[in-house]
Amino acid sequence: MATAYVHDFDAGSREQAALLGGKGANLAEMTRLGLPVPPGFTVGTDACRVFLRTGEVPVGLDAEIAEHLTGLQRAIGRRLGEPDDPLLVSVRSGARFSMPGMMDTILDVGLNDASVFGLAKASGRERFAWDSYRRLVQMYGTTVLGVAAARFEDVLTRRRAERGLADDLGFEVSDLAGIVEEFKAVIGQDTGEEFPQDPRAQLDRAVRAVFRSWTGERARVYRRREHIPDDLGTAVTVQAMVFGNSGPDSGTGVAFTRDPATGRAGVYGDYLPDAQGEDVVSGVRNALPLQELEALDPRSYERLTGILGLLETHYRDLCDVEFTIERGRLWILQTRVGKRTAEAAFRIACALVDEGLIDWPQALSRVDGGQLDQLTFPRFDAHGDATLLARGVPASPGAAVGAVVFDVPEATRRAAAGEPVVLVRPETSPDDLPGMIAAEAVVTGRGGKTSHAAVVARGMGKVCVCGAADLDIDVAGRRCTGADGTVVAEGTTVSVDGTAGTVYVGALPLVASAVTRYLETGIRSAGVVEAVARCLEQADAARRLAVLANADTPADAARARRFGAGGIGLCRTEHMFLGPRRRLVEELILARTDADRRPALDALLPFQRADFTEILAAMDGLPVTIRLLDPPLHEFLPDHTEAAVRLAVARATGEEPDPHEVRVYEASERLREQNPMLGLRGVRLALLVPGLIATQVRAIGEAVVARVRAGGDPHPEIMIPLVATVAELRLVRAEVERVLAEVGQEAGIPVDCPVGTMIELPRAALTAGEIAAAADFFSFGTNDLTQTTWGLSRDDAEAAFLADYLDRGILTVSPFETIDREGVGRLVRLAVEEGRRARPDLRIGVCGEHAGDPASIHFFHEVGVDYLSCSPYRLPAARLEAGRAAGSVDAEEVTRRRR
Ligand code: ADP
Ligand code: MG
Ligand code: MG
Repeated sequence: MATAYVHDFDAGSREQAALLGGKGANLAEMTRLGLPVPPGFTVGTDACRVFLRTGEVPVGLDAEIAEHLTGLQRAIGRRLGEPDDPLLVSVRSGARFSMPGMMDTILDVGLNDASVFGLAKASGRERFAWDSYRRLVQMYGTTVLGVAAARFEDVLTRRRAERGLADDLGFEVSDLAGIVEEFKAVIGQDTGEEFPQDPRAQLDRAVRAVFRSWTGERARVYRRREHIPDDLGTAVTVQAMVFGNSGPDSGTGVAFTRDPATGRAGVYGDYLPDAQGEDVVSGVRNALPLQELEALDPRSYERLTGILGLLETHYRDLCDVEFTIERGRLWILQTRVGKRTAEAAFRIACALVDEGLIDWPQALSRVDGGQLDQLTFPRFDAHGDATLLARGVPASPGAAVGAVVFDVPEATRRAAAGEPVVLVRPETSPDDLPGMIAAEAVVTGRGGKTSHAAVVARGMGKVCVCGAADLDIDVAGRRCTGADGTVVAEGTTVSVDGTAGTVYVGALPLVASAVTRYLETGIRSAGVVEAVARCLEQADAARRLAVLANADTPADAARARRFGAGGIGLCRTEHMFLGPRRRLVEELILARTDADRRPALDALLPFQRADFTEILAAMDGLPVTIRLLDPPLHEFLPDHTEAAVRLAVARATGEEPDPHEVRVYEASERLREQNPMLGLRGVRLALLVPGLIATQVRAIGEAVVARVRAGGDPHPEIMIPLVATVAELRLVRAEVERVLAEVGQEAGIPVDCPVGTMIELPRAALTAGEIAAAADFFSFGTNDLTQTTWGLSRDDAEAAFLADYLDRGILTVSPFETIDREGVGRLVRLAVEEGRRARPDLRIGVCGEHAGDPASIHFFHEVGVDYLSCSPYRLPAARLEAGRAAGSVDAEEVTRRRR
């Protein structure tokens, strides 16, 4: 039948999910495979889109449905609403992407006061007929007419109590007939409408109700979370009913082709005798394990397992299946590629490769970095009845237990003594870094997913819950108070669930992750670890992108290496100026002349040389990209306001203020900037603070000499931050080369060190061709590039309005989490093209947070970036995603390389 909006099952296939919805497309596919699917047809999503736009179904749709209904009636030999032996249909929702249970489905359409007797007579089962009618009036009442579900439930509960019944199975025909009458009365009272007796009117209104359920609250919330567009619409499938509720030789169930929790092969599922589909999910009765069907109905069981095998082979993936047995006859009502846990995803991918059903590129397309991350987090066993202290944004996943501390000194003191701590702060700043490093988890009262605390914690792989607004944090009083008044004093043990965004009082039991143990040690074990290891090997063999780490310390470097880093793509040097060295930095800042500066710089040199030597040793044989000092100098001075208060207090009490403190205060007053993000930092610092980069470069050069003398194989590279014009780069580069040559000459060992630049300002990207002439490599600093392209300061936007933008749909994802392809991405693309045109051998990397973000990694692969550099903890996922991005590699080639 050639019609516009309606498609018979035997006319479609699985490729048509956009039009027929996943459910309709797979029903069509199974029909074509010759499986026992009750016949029917599907109204396309295009009709729903018209309905959503205009509030009306498209002109002619009702006539089309009539045509297909006639075909269906002819095929089955029964008519909708026929009093003697009626055809009943289900009216089912089904969108392109599975939204399980989020929209409505109406069963048993076609029953009325007359045909219920016909059904009873034709089936010979009176109770079943009345049970079906009861279900229709109830479902129709709630979904089509909008009666509150509780109104019907109340009737059922009261009737069960009157009859002393535990469940609905005990109702007799007279009970059910009475319930139907009561249900109809409820509908009349609540809506002023009659339950429609005309079957065709039932059908038409049901179709419209399913369309409408697309915009229901449940469905909308689900779409937002799953990033499903709001304008796709749902298809509606109309299908002949089969009856699992027609007696003990009937039933309904759900089956998986393998275990969706672990991926193990076998028969998994639930079976409910004498029931209709919705009973399984609604949990009105406890289902049996599917295996028990083998004893109840061996023929149907065998048939079912045969079909499960066939479907898995056909779809080449885990499928889940809805089935119904009507009087010993098996019917398949739905299948789809089944949802699964992260563990199952990896295990199934490998199992299907081993069974020859898919190749490795396909296997890699079935797992992702997010799932791999999930497998690396330690987890709480169960929350049980622990006291919930706070709820906030799940900013960095995982589970951690520790003693609450409120500031850096307490955090570091306790951690140094071996006590695990949880740092609780109203918000964090770079000053809190040592405390964050010491802590197992960070909890903040303010800020969201991209606040300082969240970003830093994720980078370090620390658990973090931020924006816990209900938690009253009293730093001075060293305690915090939960929403329910629970007071937690410093030192109290709490459990932080960064995956759920919750904090509990007390220590919840932790389960360690086997996958993390594997990544740390390389020791494989059967099961999920082996599956992850194999997928990572395949991804490594397939990927074109090199994956390096952002690592600032020897310990980070060593971990990065264990996690598979091909080197360091970003080694920041600012931490080398903290701690006890801060005093030297203060001297440096206070100095007015070169001569004053000299002693501080000379004192810093050996520290830096030792740092670099250790890092180059940890990354022996691999590149280490060292970024020269980037942040503004005043960040190294004590907090301006606090210092002002201290000095004022000292003066007020008549004390003589410490002269050093006064000088530092004056310096910070002098260096204070309106907008530090755009102030004296990066390459500007190198040009304006004489001696600073010379000292850094000398430390690098001397570290190289030391490593070479020790028999090592150092590969440092020097990276200049925040370049806007090639003129800046030229000047700094000349200085770098001068110092390296000097060190080389003194030592008698040539120091070879490529010099490149970060591309993190729009102007740098726009003039990439010129800049490339003076750079050996580019590294996109996508954090600053995003800030400067959008004109957004990340922390300010996060604190003030980013969440609101996301809620209102102005942004679908934070540009600080996933690269903004159209804007920032366009600059990246342009810089890659023009940089390479000017200099074909230019190496190009990315070292912003985006380098660890799966969606962004696919973009970087696409535009021809050479390498990613991300935090060590994100390395495994980045390797996997880079392999996935490379996509269709020759399977044999991958297998060959693996041997
Ligand atoms: P959902 O997408 O929420 O699972 P479905 O459209 O699959 O909704 O239907 C709900 C329940 O009704 C399922 O258990 C399904 O198997 C059952 N069902 C749907 N159509 C029929 C039918 N024609 N005959 C018997 N049961 C059906
Ligand atoms: Mg279903
Ligand atoms: Mg930057």
